[in-house]
Amino acid sequence: MKYNSTRNKNAVVSASQAIAQGISEEGGLFVPQELPKYSLEEMNDLCRLDYRGRAKKIMGDFLSDFTQEEINESVDSAYTAEKFGSDNPSPISYIESGDKKMAVLELWHGPTCAFKDMALQILPHLLTKSVKKACSGKEAVILVATSGDTGKAALEGFKDVDGVRIMVFYPVDGVSPMQKRQMATQKGNNVSVMAIKGNFDDAQTGVKKIFTDSAVKAKLAEHNMLFSSANSINWGRLLPQIVYYFSAYCDMVNEGKITMGDGVNVVVPTGNFGNILASFYAMNMGLPVKKFICASNANNVLTDFIRTGTYDKQRTFYTTMSPSMDILVSSNLERLLYHLTDGNAEKVSEWMKALSTEGKYRVDEDVKAKLTQYFWGGFCDDENTQKTIRELYQEENYLCDTHTAVAVNVYEQYVSETGDKTPAILASTASPYKFAKSVLTAVTEEALPEDEFAMVDALSAATKTAVPAPLAALKEAEVRFTAECAVEEMPAAVLNGLGLEA
Ligand SMILES: *Cc1c(COP(=O)(O)O)cnc(C)c1O
Repeated sequence: MKYNSTRNKNAVVSASQAIAQGISEEGGLFVPQELPKYSLEEMNDLCRLDYRGRAKKIMGDFLSDFTQEEINESVDSAYTAEKFGSDNPSPISYIESGDKKMAVLELWHGPTCAFKDMALQILPHLLTKSVKKACSGKEAVILVATSGDTGKAALEGFKDVDGVRIMVFYPVDGVSPMQKRQMATQKGNNVSVMAIKGNFDDAQTGVKKIFTDSAVKAKLAEHNMLFSSANSINWGRLLPQIVYYFSAYCDMVNEGKITMGDGVNVVVPTGNFGNILASFYAMNMGLPVKKFICASNANNVLTDFIRTGTYDKQRTFYTTMSPSMDILVSSNLERLLYHLTDGNAEKVSEWMKALSTEGKYRVDEDVKAKLTQYFWGGFCDDENTQKTIRELYQEENYLCDTHTAVAVNVYEQYVSETGDKTPAILASTASPYKFAKSVLTAVTEEALPEDEFAMVDALSAATKTAVPAPLAALKEAEVRFTAECAVEEMPAAVLNGLGLEA
């Protein structure tokens, strides 16, 4: 299977090149030229496998220049019971009452307590193998812009991996205290972390600029290094996410919740559009998804886009209690546009150019029609996020984090507006303990303790739930990274961090 760029159909690469390179030369994203298609019978076969078996089959169908042994080894090292708490890394909790029929797919049982682990525990294995195949002997330099969770998950996945260095940039005031602490205490000899004075979009734009900065790239080449990306623009990030939608569907079939072939809806709290796009790929491979419900927080650029067909990033940027969704430029939407235009790279390039020069673009009517056929968009502000956490806890005895609460709220809006009671797979993307302050204020009336770890303990005491071990361990961990820089200083920070002169 080959991949081409969303902005240039003639830029054709292998799977390993797509993963090693991260992004295409002209700034486009790599997309598979065709998709494997599964019949109901083949999906039944998947249902007889465990998570790792399902991952090996699905990923194997995409990574055609990998051997099956390489894929098996990657999957077996990534999804261990030791790292994810059990042999099923993404267990389901069912909430079924009244109009709600939710299969809450808990994607946060990995080492950093957010769904990013589902991809970032396996990406280092795929990436080191890809670099060996496609660019033998080079050292890969991973640059990450993070709104909080990607950074930590990438650091944890890539720490002490041979032949790789990783540098993470996060917005100084744009992450939760727990997220900041997770990154500042990161262990490993090949890692560095820097706060930038700006928001997530500044960090992401800064990283994208460095990727295409020819002076910086030349410096790296002199030292036998090359840039790669662990952000969700990398195909190696998206592919592992397709697996858990199939796996969830199979678990629901095996648990008697649905019958093979039944339709489901998918609800995803969305930021960069990676997670929800993975479910769209799954549908195009045969998974019977009827509607994709795209949930945003107050940064509701995607809600407006789905409803109007105009994407307009020129709006107030809100710092919310669901920081991993505080995004105005959703990178992976570009891949959806490519597929909805049947691979019209010229159109996609035009729109992406308009987005960067004019701050907005408008899709054609036929694309708009397809968009609303598949997707439903809604949003939820901070006040309703906390109300949803409280109600879900009081009525269903289910404690969820702020991002998941946005999805639950938007799903409720969807059901009351449309009356559609199709069973829904709802992606739960973080442990409530990652956002202890917001969750604690939602479920108790008591005065808050000052310190983040005291809040974690208070949340545990109030809800009689356990603090995830990796978060509990942070209390005693040594702080290693405290540096801050301006956006303009990012290229120099990268070169310095690599020990190369700016
Ligand atoms: C990254 C993240 C999201 C958004 O996922 P996208 O793939 O960027 O849309 C939602 N919730 C949490 C907790 C996250 O870390």
